[in-house]
Amino acid sequence: MTSRTGSAPRIDLHAHSTASDGTLTPVELVRAGAEAGLAALAITDHDTTAGWAPAVRALPPGLLLIRGAELSCRWDGAEPAIPLHLLAYLFDPEHPELVAELARVRAAREERGERIVALLRADGIDVSWPEILAAAAGGTVGRPHIAQALIRAGLVADTRAAFGPDWLGERYRLPKEDIDVFRAVKLVRAAGGVPVFAHPRATRRGRVVPDELIAELAAAGLAGLEADHEDHSPAERAHVRALAAELGLLVTGSSDFHGTHKTVQLGAFGTSVEAYERIVDAGVTEVASA
Ligand code: AMP
Ligand code: ZN
Ligand code: FE
Ligand code: FE
Repeated sequence: MTSRTGSAPRIDLHAHSTASDGTLTPVELVRAGAEAGLAALAITDHDTTAGWAPAVRALPPGLLLIRGAELSCRWDGAEPAIPLHLLAYLFDPEHPELVAELARVRAAREERGERIVALLRADGIDVSWPEILAAAAGGTVGRPHIAQALIRAGLVADTRAAFGPDWLGERYRLPKEDIDVFRAVKLVRAAGGVPVFAHPRATRRGRVVPDELIAELAAAGLAGLEADHEDHSPAERAHVRALAAELGLLVTGSSDFHGTHKTVQLGAFGTSVEAYERIVDAGVTEVASA
């Protein structure tokens, strides 16, 4: 890979579109990636590959697209189970078991969203599930969609506030029916994909898993760890890098762009060409280019 400017190519391997809880359509996302000067961008919507086809069709020349997803997982080694996110790159989107598992998780997300709204309504908070579902427009439903309803109702100022302890961060937080993380790693590998643990040390989001689990996941097929992420402190980034080196895992850095649902911009964090090439070499799906 070479850069048009001669400087190191900018590679962003984690971004969301309206296929889940981002605010740019897949078409707008790839255009924004090119405008941001990225050499490569991954589309990684929560539990879906629905954004892949429109993103590929609209791909601007000069931008490489990594097709991916961010799988909602859980680790049952703690009580209650710890939720975690697994990025999966370049897998076969028609692998039957993986397709079935993603469909199950999306259905469970809808059911959980509806229950969160019922809890809010029971406390006299006027938000409407049909309205929230309509706003998600067929994309994977998540708490950011409920957060938007709270903002529209004038109950919170922004998404960050909606994820505070009085709202979706704690009081009105319900668990999802996530995929067991070992099963997810094996499924992604079986589908020819490359599994990378997203923001593994993001203590500001809640509980994180122990390093011993990450070592077990590496033995089970995990390929990499996302180190540079806005939810990691500098110390957390350094810890993740050291752990990756110890376990022989590749390291990524990414924006986790969500459009206006978050403040972070595309390309705010990046991945090295070396790590990018390790992912591309290990994946079964070709990297898309215009
Ligand atoms: P869910 O997948 O429904 O559990 O919602 C989790 C999503 O909410 C994450 O993928 C982020 O996009 C978003 N999120 C989580 N915590 C925050 C936060 N503190 N501020 C803004 N967005 C958040
Ligand atoms: Zn999200
Ligand atoms: Fe995530
Ligand atoms: Fe994400």
